[in-house]
Amino acid sequence: MPAEESTPAIVLRARDYADSDRIVTLLTLNAGKLSGIAKGAKASRHRFERKLEPFSHVMLHFKRRPHGQLVFITKAEASDLAQHTLDDDLGKIALGSYMLELSDALTTEESEAAAAYRILESGLRTLARCSIGPALRQAFELRILEWAGYGLEFAQCRVCATIVAADSRPVYFVVARGGVVCARCRNAVPEGAIRIAAESAVALARLSTIALDEAALARASGRDGALAIARFISSILDRRLRSADFLDSMLDGR
Ligand SMILES: [Zn+2]
Repeated sequence: MPAEESTPAIVLRARDYADSDRIVTLLTLNAGKLSGIAKGAKASRHRFERKLEPFSHVMLHFKRRPHGQLVFITKAEASDLAQHTLDDDLGKIALGSYMLELSDALTTEESEAAAAYRILESGLRTLARCSIGPALRQAFELRILEWAGYGLEFAQCRVCATIVAADSRPVYFVVARGGVVCARCRNAVPEGAIRIAAESAVALARLSTIALDEAALARASGRDGALAIARFISSILDRRLRSADFLDSMLDGR
């Protein structure tokens, strides 16, 4: 039997299996994204001091199996890890669920994901102590996309590199280019584009550089910028995230 390993981890999704087991997918600091089976999870409060459900932040102990996808989860404990309490706040649950789902969609099992774990942990920590708003959502999206290799460009034109200033003319977000082009270059770009106020582009450029815990208080982009990010995410995932509609309804009017 392989040796036991342990790592901090955040539960992305979980479901009951058979009579007393639980199948859980987690984003971990040291072992990438993992799916595992926790035998007897529903009965053993000793080994599973922390409930294995979405948002749980646990010290995960597990053993790899010689074959198959699922690891054996032997123990999950609170250790001294921060717990991200979202209370019963529907808005926080909506944004938190979206963070989990987006992190899940952009990671693959068994590949290194320590920085993605840190982004998610920081996002949930900020969410637990702030009220929700579009700025935190946008900052999280930009940060996790950048980790996945999709650094979106809002600070300057993708073609001529002209810097976007708050008093510039509107710019145009081109999904296939992962960034904006300026009004002058727009005609030379054949793809469809989403028109964005310069103010929105400036807000997104800033949100992509500041720490997530500062983002909750920063200025958000308007709906134009939010739409650009949403279109980009749909284009790379080829589907819409289940939690996105709920989150959109919670953020409506904020
Ligand atoms: Zn340009």
